[in-house]
Amino acid sequence: MPDAALPATFHVSTHPAIQHKLALLRATSTEPKKFRELVREISWLLGYEALADARTAPVTVQTPMETTTGAQLADRIGLIPILRAGLGMVDAMLELMPTAEVWHLGLFRDERTLRPVEYYNKLPDTATVDLCLILDPMLATGGSATAAIDVLKHWGARRIKLINLIAAPEGVRAVAEAHPDVTMHCAALDRQLNEKGYILPGLGDAGDRQFGTGHR
Ligand code: URA
Repeated sequence: MPDAALPATFHVSTHPAIQHKLALLRATSTEPKKFRELVREISWLLGYEALADARTAPVTVQTPMETTTGAQLADRIGLIPILRAGLGMVDAMLELMPTAEVWHLGLFRDERTLRPVEYYNKLPDTATVDLCLILDPMLATGGSATAAIDVLKHWGARRIKLINLIAAPEGVRAVAEAHPDVTMHCAALDRQLNEKGYILPGLGDAGDRQFGTGHR
């Protein structure tokens, strides 16, 4: 996808710290323990960038010297990790936003159709947050992302951001077409998908690499 074709809602971080960690994350030689650490660190940095427009409210602070005005996060934030690979991104986001709520959403990809199938949904009846961050390391076909966004909008969510470590052009296009109001934040836009829906060059299966299950 040439740059001119990128939707305005799509953001790739060029931060050197993110790019350095991403190269380590991709390497086959990176073991699950280090991989999990890197997922966490990159997620923190991406979350930091993605939340640049979060709303704040003034708060009065008493310093040892005098009283001043500070800011506190005013948006109620919901984290929606897509099971299972999105789980590794949650702790970092909670460090950034300790008061965020976590709503798990389970989608698996039907290997035949490459379409998402929902198998777990712990959202309450109505939306209880102002800003939803969907956490999923890989934006591949965009099937899971668009399905998750559909679920959240149906739930009543109005502001939604998608946080991925790596995106494929196919996924970016699918999300932008289905949900032009949703912003996407990632560390890299890769070349393409292969015939099995894996991102190239990518990093393989983000779930297997975090949880050490890739040898089956
Ligand atoms: N999911 C993954 O874990 N990796 C890919 O490359 C695509 C989808």
